[in-house]
Amino acid sequence: MLRIAIQSKGRLNEDSVALLKEIGINIDESKRKFLVQAGNFPLELLLVRDDDIPQIVSNGTAELGIVGLNEVKESGKDVKIVDKLGFGACRISLAIPKTEEYTGPSYFEGKRIATSYPNILKEFLDKHGVSAKIEVITGSVEIAPAADIADAIFDIVSSGGTLVSNGLKEVEKVFWSEAVLIGGAELSEENKAILEEILFRIESAKVSKGKKYLLMNIPESAIDEAVKLLPALRSPTILPLAAKGWCSMHSVVDTKELWTKIRQLKAIGAEGILVLNVDKIIP
Ligand code: ATP
Ligand code: ZN
Repeated sequence: MLRIAIQSKGRLNEDSVALLKEIGINIDESKRKFLVQAGNFPLELLLVRDDDIPQIVSNGTAELGIVGLNEVKESGKDVKIVDKLGFGACRISLAIPKTEEYTGPSYFEGKRIATSYPNILKEFLDKHGVSAKIEVITGSVEIAPAADIADAIFDIVSSGGTLVSNGLKEVEKVFWSEAVLIGGAELSEENKAILEEILFRIESAKVSKGKKYLLMNIPESAIDEAVKLLPALRSPTILPLAAKGWCSMHSVVDTKELWTKIRQLKAIGAEGILVLNVDKIIP
């Protein structure tokens, strides 16, 4: 049995639960408890505040955790990054009132900076030989300059909208984060096997994300060109059609390239193109 700590509520909760569902681990969310047993997998979920997850994993209360890389870095706890999960992307930046002129890191010399991430900020300031007063605030850091609690802030930014609406501008992007799977001490053989199964399933979920399944009819004469356009996993599947001179081709493409490929396939005579979602890809 493995135990995994995830955020009980907040920005990472939904995606963490969705990821576990996606890899076939069912969690009964109606019973919102501190500790939940997965229905069909030897995994126990510990639902906690995200700030506590690095410590919970480093002291062995849970073998695994899903948390933002920012919290891992800030905590300074000794945990391993087992996998990057591709959600919860954000950065931690320095921002100042938009009317101020920014002159580089030395701007912060002697200034008061409000943040919930004092350790990451200190590392940045030390690197640039700047001494500033760090005001630790949890909660709405972005209002600190307007409230005259600080001259600048060091806070999480994802789109930048919150900064603008508080009359601030982002001047230094310091730390990039996303949700990561973390692990602690060496696992027992049994738990190693469970973790391997989890990682295998996460990998296939990642591969299938951003892929579409394409089906179409193409003239036999266009097969060579079509194969060049659609390399697929190994190579595309081609099946003869009852209509002479035509075949059906199946392949997988990156969603990013979907419309370019469709245009190119139409140009070589493809017809009846069907685009389907991919649920899983097992490489
Ligand atoms: P908790 O109550 O669990 O302590 P919290 O208020 O500290 O929650 P959330 O706001 O739920 O935290 O954010 C959790 C994590 O989500 C952050 O640490 C960060 O890794 C990630 N994240 C992604 N985008 C954003 C964003 N725009 N603002 C805040 N966090 C974000
Ligand atoms: Zn938190």
